[in-house]
Amino acid sequence: MPEGIIYKALSGYYFVEDDSGRTVQCRARGIFKKRGESPLVGDRVLFAETENGEGTVDAIQPRSTALVRPPVANADLAVLVFSVIRPELNLQLLDKFLVHTEHAGLDALIVLTKMDATADSENADRILRDVESARSLYTSIGYDTIVTSAKMQDGIDELRERLSRHISVFAGQSGVGKSSLVNALVPGLQLETNEISEKLGRGRHTTRHVELVKMAGGGYVADTPGFSQLDFAELGIDQISDCFREFRELASGCKFRGCTHLHEPGCAVMAARESGGIAESRYQHYAAFMAEWKENRRRY
Ligand code: GDP
Ligand code: ZN
Repeated sequence: MPEGIIYKALSGYYFVEDDSGRTVQCRARGIFKKRGESPLVGDRVLFAETENGEGTVDAIQPRSTALVRPPVANADLAVLVFSVIRPELNLQLLDKFLVHTEHAGLDALIVLTKMDATADSENADRILRDVESARSLYTSIGYDTIVTSAKMQDGIDELRERLSRHISVFAGQSGVGKSSLVNALVPGLQLETNEISEKLGRGRHTTRHVELVKMAGGGYVADTPGFSQLDFAELGIDQISDCFREFRELASGCKFRGCTHLHEPGCAVMAARESGGIAESRYQHYAAFMAEWKENRRRY
């Protein structure tokens, strides 16, 4: 039975692309509904062709990940987009996104964009220094970082190369340049960017269905951003430190099991903070998220 990937779901149809690049428009077999399952965009599926040129999805291969917003299966890379100006880089928000992508089981790529826009800023020197220190910090933790300008097309080839062989979901604040980057990656694609939706006088992503867009050179990007909800409702308090990569390895050296790394004696994470082995900003953000988690629990 042929195998393919669902790249689009619309009006009860699943658009399946097989490995030769051919698309077959499929219905899901009734068995899925009975089991309360439904195929997702990103699923690798076995399908059968029917006589009218359409097909049926017969089986879903096991998923490596499953996101809820956007509903995408098998995404393995989150592209965390931050503009270096308008709005300025916000490392606490970056760390928050990283907690959520780690928790969802995705690797993360950090993209610092709008680099061209620093030129006319009176703070250009400071911004460029901040960009360099953010790059070296996150690289040392194990995250790739790429600097880009969608406007000047800088770094776009490098980004496309890094995304090949992956199913990627973009994430980041509104207005940082996500849509502009996806448009730059896929010539011919025209996702609405902010100035267009402003002109049309409406918000974006209203009733959009998620679609995976194939890039030249391989790989798919979701055309709808993800990780829009960044509370800690789905995380246990003991899971937050696991989502800080550089804490994870150290935690086995803490004296107490279940150490929160906030006040316990013999804490390996706090020792690393003292010796500079863990960046102060990362530790501060960790402590802030722990406090936020507790604050949320009190409220509900
Ligand atoms: P999104 O909300 O994250 O998808 O952001 P958009 O792609 O809609 O971009 C938001 C605004 O930033 C728009 O006015 C874009 O024209 C602008 N923008 C996006 N990328 C760049 C860039 O690389 N350089 C400059 N100067 N502006 C950009
Ligand atoms: Zn500890």
